[in-house]
Amino acid sequence: MTKRLPVVFFGHGNPMNALDDNPYAAQWRAMGAELPRPRAILAVSAHWYVPGTLVTANQYPRTIHDFGGFPRELYAMQYPAPGDLGLAARLTDLLADYGAVGDERWGLDHGTWSVLCHVYPKADIPVVQLSIDETLEPALHFEIGTLLRPLRDEGVMIVASGNVVHNLHAFAWGRHPVEPFDWAQRFETKARECLLAREFDPLIEYESLGEDARLSAPTPDHYLPLLYAMGASDEHDGVTFPVEGIDGGSVSMLSVLFS
Ligand code: ZN
Repeated sequence: MTKRLPVVFFGHGNPMNALDDNPYAAQWRAMGAELPRPRAILAVSAHWYVPGTLVTANQYPRTIHDFGGFPRELYAMQYPAPGDLGLAARLTDLLADYGAVGDERWGLDHGTWSVLCHVYPKADIPVVQLSIDETLEPALHFEIGTLLRPLRDEGVMIVASGNVVHNLHAFAWGRHPVEPFDWAQRFETKARECLLAREFDPLIEYESLGEDARLSAPTPDHYLPLLYAMGASDEHDGVTFPVEGIDGGSVSMLSVLFS
């Protein structure tokens, strides 16, 4: 029997983290050296936030440069990991109640590759992406995460990529280092406490957590991947935070490892 694989939530932040040799990149590389090598990776990225539950079903998913105004070197980056049609089919099966279907138009967006290029730089592990259905309530994103749990015993590592705190309006582009905003710090601390205590309800109902939550997750896309990782974890998992830091004052780079 294959060993049960961990679940990881990555705070991906600025796309330039793919190119820069900064402390986040170094910590992602260190994680890659520690993590087991899965048969395949299922990635849930903040950047595939669409109406519907879609699964990448390409043999060779393209590298998507879904951002604007960055240096040419970043657009030249490729993450040529293969797809996995078997895993895609398994997912449409597991998530049939959500109307999951295979999709050949998307590929790997930067929420996935800007981190995986450091964690698994050889790009030789098959990757399948699962979209985040923007029409669903937060509780249902957690529920989808629970449906993914069996994959952990099938050699699949579940990787969710977003940011616990993600407010680009307040972000200090190019001005480093800056102190984190109080609300960002408080919301991240609250999230850590809940994760460690496995008290998930407040995090699922984050919209009821007041002003700190409103400023930290002004749009749901970067926050919701955390709910997938929480859902795919269970009470046997320990919780650690292998990467920490708040970038530009308003983007939490926190990684959460359930293993
Ligand atoms: Zn992002």
